[in-house]
Amino acid sequence: MDSTTVRSWLHGIAESMRAERDHLVALDSAIGDGDHGTNMTRGFDAVELAIAAEPDAAPGRLLILAGKTLVSTVGGASGPLWGSALRSAGRSLGDRAELSGEQLVEALAAALASIRDLGAASPGDKTMVDALAPALDALRARLAAGDPVDAALAAAEEAAGEGMRSTIPMQARKGRASYLGERSIGHQDPGATSSALIIGALRRAAAGSA
Ligand code: ADP
Ligand code: MG
Repeated sequence: MDSTTVRSWLHGIAESMRAERDHLVALDSAIGDGDHGTNMTRGFDAVELAIAAEPDAAPGRLLILAGKTLVSTVGGASGPLWGSALRSAGRSLGDRAELSGEQLVEALAAALASIRDLGAASPGDKTMVDALAPALDALRARLAAGDPVDAALAAAEEAAGEGMRSTIPMQARKGRASYLGERSIGHQDPGATSSALIIGALRRAAAGSA
């Protein structure tokens, strides 16, 4: 994986957010304020413009730029959370031009650690963490078992999807949805849903560069 993979991941995220914007808005309307689809679309549209202006940037630099752009364009909880996540992932890569599966795991682990530091959510709180933590666990386990990166990412995408669906019966303990108490039960978390899309975009980008 190299800067072309990371660029295609970020473009893929922007495409997924545009395609799923209305769905994400509907999910956030049920248990939040209805802006998650527009937040993520606005943020990743701006990321596409920002990375286009830096054609020679290394993977780490692209992710740092994407993170900064999200922080400055997205007002909701997801902007600072994904912003710090991508900046941490980028910093973990330094200025290397190529990254291995293990370095990808390190970058995603740094991203998840940032989200957890900033948002203080644990698995089971009905947040993006419920999609991202199992995806990272699956990726790490499959790479450790000797699977190639594309197969490991396919397992990560599946785990993210399961994690996303697992938020339906949960009661929210973090973010706006927590204000609803028990009324948050029975709805899929919007941030877990966009997170599963982000992992899916990563799987496709890596497959394209294999
Ligand atoms: P806001 O809630 O400010 O309107 P968004 O609608 O863009 O922001 O994002 C909502 C999503 O953010 C939730 O579905 C949840 O997944 C995620 N989220 C909210 N608070 C936290 C938190 N403290 N930790 C992790 N994720 C969170
Ligand atoms: Mg919202």
